[in-house]
Amino acid sequence: TKYVYDFAEGNKDLKDLLGGKGANLAEMVRIGLPVPPGFTITTEACREYLAAGSPPAELAEQVGAHLAALEEKMGRRLGDPADPLLVSVRSGAKFSMPGMMETVLNVGLTDASVHGLAARSGNERFAWDSYRRLIQMFGKTVCDVPGDAFEHAMDEVKGKRADVELDAAELRALVDAFKAIFAEHTGRDFPQDPREQMDLAVNAVFQSWNAERAVLYRRQERIPADLGTAVNIVAMVFGNLGPDSGTGVAFTRDPATGARGVYGDYLANAQGEDVVAGIRNTVGLQELEHLDKKSFDELMDIMSTLEGHYRDLCDIEFTIEAGKLWMLQTRVGKRTAAAAFIIASQLVDEGMIDLDEALRRQSGARLAQLMFPTFDAAAVDKPIAKGIAASPGAAVGHVVFDSAEAAERAAKGEKVILVRRETNPDDLPGMIAAQGILTSRGGKTSHAAVVARGMGKTCVCGAESVEVDVAGKRFTVGDVTVGEGDLISIDGTSGAIYLGEVPVEPSPVVRYFDGELSADADTLVTAVHRMLTHADQRRRMAVRANADTGSDAARARRFGAQGIGLCRTEHMFLGERRAMVERLILADGAEEQQHALDALLPLQRDDFVEILHAMDGLPVTIRLIDPPLHEFLPPLEELAVEVATAKEPDPHRQALLAAVHRMHEQNPMLGLRGVRLGLVIPGLFGMQVRAIAQAAAKVRAEGGDARPEIMVPLVGAVQELEAVRADAERILAEEGMAGTPIGTMIEVPRAALTAGQIAEAADFFSFGTNDLTQMGWGFSRDDVEGSFFSRYLELGVFGVSPFETLDRDGIGRLVRIAVQEGRQVRPDLKIGVCGEHGGDPESVRFFDEVGLDYVSCSPFRVPVARLEAGRAQL
Ligand code: ADP
Ligand code: MG
Ligand code: MG
Repeated sequence: TKYVYDFAEGNKDLKDLLGGKGANLAEMVRIGLPVPPGFTITTEACREYLAAGSPPAELAEQVGAHLAALEEKMGRRLGDPADPLLVSVRSGAKFSMPGMMETVLNVGLTDASVHGLAARSGNERFAWDSYRRLIQMFGKTVCDVPGDAFEHAMDEVKGKRADVELDAAELRALVDAFKAIFAEHTGRDFPQDPREQMDLAVNAVFQSWNAERAVLYRRQERIPADLGTAVNIVAMVFGNLGPDSGTGVAFTRDPATGARGVYGDYLANAQGEDVVAGIRNTVGLQELEHLDKKSFDELMDIMSTLEGHYRDLCDIEFTIEAGKLWMLQTRVGKRTAAAAFIIASQLVDEGMIDLDEALRRQSGARLAQLMFPTFDAAAVDKPIAKGIAASPGAAVGHVVFDSAEAAERAAKGEKVILVRRETNPDDLPGMIAAQGILTSRGGKTSHAAVVARGMGKTCVCGAESVEVDVAGKRFTVGDVTVGEGDLISIDGTSGAIYLGEVPVEPSPVVRYFDGELSADADTLVTAVHRMLTHADQRRRMAVRANADTGSDAARARRFGAQGIGLCRTEHMFLGERRAMVERLILADGAEEQQHALDALLPLQRDDFVEILHAMDGLPVTIRLIDPPLHEFLPPLEELAVEVATAKEPDPHRQALLAAVHRMHEQNPMLGLRGVRLGLVIPGLFGMQVRAIAQAAAKVRAEGGDARPEIMVPLVGAVQELEAVRADAERILAEEGMAGTPIGTMIEVPRAALTAGQIAEAADFFSFGTNDLTQMGWGFSRDDVEGSFFSRYLELGVFGVSPFETLDRDGIGRLVRIAVQEGRQVRPDLKIGVCGEHGGDPESVRFFDEVGLDYVSCSPFRVPVARLEAGRAQL
């Protein structure tokens, strides 16, 4: 196996093998830029080293051969006492992990060669400075000597002076002190064999792949754990030779705004690490023009060459050795979400890339970031507590502890934060009314978190130090007490909770989607508009929204939704309508039941009219009631206590308690809900179908273009759907709405596996991937997050929660089967998805790949889905 590549052998497309740094160094050599010679040891060697605990057998020999070639080219031998070649040993993985791994400079210096370096350079000070740096870096990174031990010794010699003011004699004494520290901590003398130094440093770089902070960073950034790092051996060039030398970093354009210009920092008489370490104050890169005009001009030339070559913003590291410029690193630079859109748009204007390429460089995740309001960073104080950052954004409001109070205050125009121990579907009105939601229990998939994310509402959940006292209408954190009506601010991006009002800035991107800003309002909005317009042109899939109210539907439409993929009807049974649901449940006989349903019908009809109006001309998929009915009744324990302690017996409450007992289920998620409920109480679905039909007829009579579609939840067998369908078709015909499409959710695994049969009775499918994931994995989505998901993530059972990003291998397979078998029976079968995954960038790509007709997601996610559906087609 070839484990070592000369810079002249590589190129920028070999990042898997050579790492980002190695591949880009090779590329710079290829296009003729001044790069010190060197070679790269592959990531494959690293992987083998990590697996076996020692380097692959052929490695030493291959490194030897490349080192010999390097020595030949440089006309010096590594660590030669008379005239030493020195090298740096640098980590460099496929994805840049800034500062996470190790680099050692000046390898090859020894007690003997330090004299050669001094003699050859005529600079004693420089030689001893380089040697002390080597012992320091080598000690720290290769041998785990604590860094402060060296820094402490350095401070003692230095006093208040800057490091450049130390003279040769002092540095020489420092080298002795450092060697003593090294020996004390490692139990051996500092290695005097240059090749041994190099080999030990290479192994240390390999090992740094698994350093704790590197592991953490990869998890955060979702970089795979098994890639390994490459190692670059680079001939040293010296920025610490004197005032006409130095080192710097630069961007080819402003990474925050994309503006062209000179952005960077420079430090004279210094080695690479000093710039970022903040040892001395750097100067702006413009200063270099005055310090060394020739190098400055050359650098500007090179930066423009790099931009033209990579067709993107690049960042670079360079060093000037006695007036000669050397390039030490380049890569396509990291940038903020806003800059990503702006820069791509500018590059299109400059003719460097086309719109497809610009779109390819965006991501839905970044767009989502641009849609959340933020706190003004300059204005924030210390948080009183921290919870889990469940749904990003910045919310300020008066604390309230129950849903009804929240809704009431909000109706009067007050901004509120709903604070609960945890939330349940009952809290929905309050959650909708609130600016943000704070809970003391539950993780990222708790009810509060999922619902808030769906709504694009700020949420901090699981803030364990927050003691919520709902009855006393207050919460405490340590000795801080916050009562109802007090102002707090919560940051859903960081999880921080602040007392009082922290000023927020609304997102211009959202104001643009909402029609408050025009597309040319500012450069960011213009860039976002441009990318989305192009994505719309490219995408094959339609994007619909999940919306249950007229106002949500209207907003979704402004955000670009092409219909509603999921209109839930359960909230239409809440609030004051609860009493009617109680009557339905307690009804004695069919007649009473029908009375209760008749009372609900006009209310439902009005709800639908509003939504059909808002989505005039576009399809609206309405899902018949899904949750078990007892969710609309008071909780068992509460009611039992109330009945037991009542002074006067209340027959209604007693009957209600009996009903709750009767309907109690061990596993309500797997119980009497969805189509099962519809078949047990046939009048219920019938009433809903009639309400839909009448609403549509009404809208049409008024000249509107209502396009309802009726969706049956939780179907597992075609017989269930057939029974509902027969009844629904009869009612639709009675109401003059025959031909209204009737379809089904595919959310029970059996439905996916018998999709061919089910398609016989369905006009469309819509995947309910939340339930499909829950039932496919057997994971209770309300419980798993807090209990074992973190362990599973650690073990790599999955890289991301399957509730967040669709599990392609398992649940995705069910989706594929259902699409294929459904379309075999009915080639024109319309198929969409309406679970949370419909707005997840990764999952959207998958749905495009398997041929769905549309994805449906919360209104706030609609632009994200549009962007990703467009990218999926590139
Ligand atoms: P990182 O990935 O943390 O930036 P690098 O491998 O790029 O680490 O090296 C750290 C610093 O040392 C950089 O500033 C780099 O420019 C400098 N450096 C690396 N190799 C050399 C070399 N051969 N000659 C001079 N400076 C070097
Ligand atoms: Mg670097
Ligand atoms: Mg479901």
